[in-house]
Amino acid sequence: MPAKKSTRPAARELLFGDLWEYDPAPESAPAFIEPRYGLFINGKFVAPKTRKYFDSISPRNEEKLSEIALAGAADVDAAYQAAATAFVSWSKLPGTERAKYLFRIARLLQDRAREFAVAETLDGGKPITESRDFDVPMAAAHFFYHAGWADKLNYVTPGRTLAPLGVVGQIIPWNFPLLMLAWKLAPALATGNTVVLKPAETTSITALKFASILQDAGLPPGVVNIVTGAGETGAAVVNHPLAAKIAFTGSTEVGKSIQRALAGTGKRLTLELGGKAANIVFEDAPLDQAVEGIINGIFFNQGHVCCAGSRLLVQESIAEEVLSKLKVRLKSLRTGDPLDKNTDVGAINSQAQLDRIRELVACGVAEGADLYQPACKLPEKGFYFPPTLFSNVAMSHRIARDEIFGPVLSILTFRTPEEAVEKANNTRYGLSAGVWTDKGSRILKMSTELKAGVVWANSFNKFDPASPFGGYKESGFGREGGKQGLLDYANLI
Ligand code: NAP
Ligand code: MG
Repeated sequence: MPAKKSTRPAARELLFGDLWEYDPAPESAPAFIEPRYGLFINGKFVAPKTRKYFDSISPRNEEKLSEIALAGAADVDAAYQAAATAFVSWSKLPGTERAKYLFRIARLLQDRAREFAVAETLDGGKPITESRDFDVPMAAAHFFYHAGWADKLNYVTPGRTLAPLGVVGQIIPWNFPLLMLAWKLAPALATGNTVVLKPAETTSITALKFASILQDAGLPPGVVNIVTGAGETGAAVVNHPLAAKIAFTGSTEVGKSIQRALAGTGKRLTLELGGKAANIVFEDAPLDQAVEGIINGIFFNQGHVCCAGSRLLVQESIAEEVLSKLKVRLKSLRTGDPLDKNTDVGAINSQAQLDRIRELVACGVAEGADLYQPACKLPEKGFYFPPTLFSNVAMSHRIARDEIFGPVLSILTFRTPEEAVEKANNTRYGLSAGVWTDKGSRILKMSTELKAGVVWANSFNKFDPASPFGGYKESGFGREGGKQGLLDYANLI
């Protein structure tokens, strides 16, 4: 009798998920999203003077989550007036008192961490494991860190102290809505400024929920005002005469238009813009570790990351091996419902962003690069894109030059360290880079030669509130986090 054919999958298949079926593991905590949000001005939610609202939908399944107020110029003006009035007493408050508010905000956010994580995932589409383990704890960490500085401003620069600028207008993008809010608010408040903040149109919900934390913390009315809307609302925030400084995080294109609008006004400006980071892997690198770093570098938050390692530069001698390891690893990534705790790659933030990713990927194919996507079943409703690799990419290809801001990795090769530096720096951006090698001396040499605000060594996408973050060239100027970040919200006196 012939031996019965084994139905047991090979160990390798089991390991890499070809045959495993996962049971759904949805996060079940309620997000407490209101059906409608007004504008948060002078400590209260108010109806917009425009009387207009827009729908906020979930990219997870395209269901409507809430209605968000559309702020017009008169609403933005009311927010600035409230902030200017609040500045008079807030800026005079001793640092020890301001610190108490910041500590209270941080603790209240920690208390409601699960609720905020679910709201962030529903609104923006990122996997719940990321909003739970990264976005919300890091946002709280920024408030804790800056609470610690509020009464120590005399020690930032020896012999000098920091004086607040006044009312600061802040505009943030949709990729890390709550975390970008924290990056902006915490240093501004610690240094004694008051704020008018505009979240991105597609992801306003956690900022509006955050307003209730400010109320619970007893923050004086007008110290933080939140105006929602699209680009026009942002432009009204930029152009208001009471703004002493604009802090913007978003695209290079809009950043340039803001720089033009502010030229000659005397207003301070910081810009945190796009990127096209090189993640450089040398032949002596610990390869399995590097593969994890490459995967995290590009697929974290669906690649909606300004500092994403979107250009892999791999030494020619190991290129084949790295590519085959990456293909195997890609098969085990689970793309789908972001509320599911098994999900690695969640929903693309909006239909518009999905269209842009599709256009750039089609361009990569048309220009002759080799596309690889693992077989994966995407949900029928919602905005999804499979994790994607392009090999045989040339420096001249659009996928090697333009920011895709999606789960798409372009793979290029190099032979010598000099060529790696040359290729890595051959971009209009300069936000971040990664170096993978066994040699400490090579790490130090590379990090001085790479024109990037952050260089990670044998790691990628690591953040800490004490570590300044920001760019060179068309990635912008100014720093967020650390002592350097405080200096961007103050005059040295
Ligand atoms: P975006 O279109 O520039 O939008 C960013 C913010 O600016 C949003 O709140 C947007 O409002 C607002 N806005 C749009 N037009 C405006 C105008 N004319 N005046 C003032 N504000 C305006 O960028 P995005 O596509 O949302 O975000 C992705 C980009 O941000 C990527 O390029 C990414 O690299 C960059 N980014 C950089 C960092 C960093 O730290 N360097 C961090 C995260 C993201 P609406 O969304 O409501 O239109
Ligand atoms: Mg949304």
